Amino acid sequence: MGDLQDRDSLRDKIIGLGENSARKSYYPELQKKIKELEEREQSLYDLINNIFDAIIIHDEEGTVLAVNEGMLAMYRMPDKETALQYTIMDYSFGYEPDVVKEVFKKTLGGKPQIFEWRARRPLDNSSFESEVSARTATWQGKKVIIATVRDITERLQTQLKLIEREQQLECQNEELISLNEELAEQNVRIEQFNEQLKIANNKAVESDRLKTAFLANMSHEIRTPLNGILGFTSLLPEARNSDEAFEKYISIIQTCSNQLLTLIDDIIDLSKIEAGMMNFNPQLLNINNFMQQLCAYYKSTPSKAELICDIESRNDELTIFVDQERLRQVFNNLLNNAIKFTSSGKITFGYHIKNQEVEFYVSDTGIGIAPENTEIIFEHFRQVDVGFTKKYRGTGLGLAICKALLELMGGRIWVESVLDKGSTFYFTVPLSFEKEDANVPEANKAFSVEALKGKTILVAEDEEFNYMFINELLSKADAKLIHVLDGAKAVETVKQNPSIDLILMDIKMPVMNGIDATRIIKKTYPQIPVIAVTAYAMADDKEKALEAGCDGYLAKPINKAALFAAINQCIK
Ligand code: ADP
Repeated sequence: MGDLQDRDSLRDKIIGLGENSARKSYYPELQKKIKELEEREQSLYDLINNIFDAIIIHDEEGTVLAVNEGMLAMYRMPDKETALQYTIMDYSFGYEPDVVKEVFKKTLGGKPQIFEWRARRPLDNSSFESEVSARTATWQGKKVIIATVRDITERLQTQLKLIEREQQLECQNEELISLNEELAEQNVRIEQFNEQLKIANNKAVESDRLKTAFLANMSHEIRTPLNGILGFTSLLPEARNSDEAFEKYISIIQTCSNQLLTLIDDIIDLSKIEAGMMNFNPQLLNINNFMQQLCAYYKSTPSKAELICDIESRNDELTIFVDQERLRQVFNNLLNNAIKFTSSGKITFGYHIKNQEVEFYVSDTGIGIAPENTEIIFEHFRQVDVGFTKKYRGTGLGLAICKALLELMGGRIWVESVLDKGSTFYFTVPLSFEKEDANVPEANKAFSVEALKGKTILVAEDEEFNYMFINELLSKADAKLIHVLDGAKAVETVKQNPSIDLILMDIKMPVMNGIDATRIIKKTYPQIPVIAVTAYAMADDKEKALEAGCDGYLAKPINKAALFAAINQCIK
């Protein structure tokens, strides 16, 4: 703004009150008033100069006409003269002249304008954000724009910081929300896990209870046949004089032994299944032949109910690819149960072809099963009838084994039953429609002992009783038996008698085992058939024996039919 002190004398001259004016003394009042006005103007200027904001007065071309002290400080100008050398364009940072002119136009239109503007300090070319309020005014008789500029750098920075903080809070909020969701999910998972733990715990308690019941039951199941065997064996010497009593005792001992063997087989099967070691040997099997054999066998076993085998002759040529021993095992379990639980009426078994499956069934008119038990009887050790009052014998393993075997073979098993009316057990086996193959071994072809007449059979067996049993079975066949006690002797004997017709080779023997002995013999005499005989039902001895060159395989205890069937296959 202009310096008022310098203009004192000029003012006095203009109004005719100069030092030498004669009228000076006449107008002391006027002079006083003028002085007061001048002082007020001065304090107004002081006030304007002390305003912290910058005040810039410029014309419509942008030429700066006046500035206050605040402007000098804000725009880093040394003095007002310098400040007036620059135009509004110079004090604006990076705006096109058109944009600046547009703002002038709007302001000159009469409406005060408030806007944000990037201001420039022309001396060091630095810049800062400002808030400008511009309005028109008349100054020294000219239409001008008075712009009040406020540095809002700090305010913007604070705003920026606030926005950042807000964004951070938003992010944190989102994180918290997602954390919360995760926690909720984890909570659900923990609850599910807890639920599973509870179920597992209940199962463990139940399984513990079942195992205890099983052990008690098992002990009973083992002791009963053992008592029979031991009791009647001790009576044998007394029965020497009575053929009838002797045969009766022997028959009881055999029955008890078979019971024991079945139990042991079941336990071994279960362990094999649970250890994932159950192997299958599927072959093409003619279903009708198989069913007829089953029927023939069961017709000869005692049963209170009539046994009916339901097969259709139009399926006579139907074969399936299945492990027939496992299939027989399933049928044996179901038919033995049906016989056990049926005291009158009939037991029917047969099959139907349904949806690429063979659906076998065993139906009885026995005691039936209550609906709440039709599922659990397929679990290990489960029996409907438990406790000391138990009427029916059994271990509760049979159906669990059937279920596991069938599932491993790609089938399933279920029961439909009415209490006191009877039950029908159904099970399926995947079907492969194939005509009977010429290569299918006829496992149960009638065996003629004539075939062994005059043949030399080497029996490598270290256990005397086992040899005696084989000798007993083959003695009627007029075959010549040579007995050796270990694998090395077997090798030696074959060298001396290369015309031997058949070897029954025990696997576990002292000096040299049967597998090694077979390997050596087969190297020089591949034509001599060797049948492996082993007591290891657990291990994969069959595979090992066949791999060593054995032509057949027999599991101990040897049964007559199996022995003859194996020999039948080897001796042509
Ligand atoms: P086990 O016969 O040795 O007890 P299973 O697993 O074969 O064992 O059978 C389990 C239970 O299922 C039997 O104890 C019996 O309660 C019930 N069950 C099985 N088959 C029949 C059937 N045909 N009629 C009635 N109940 C049966």
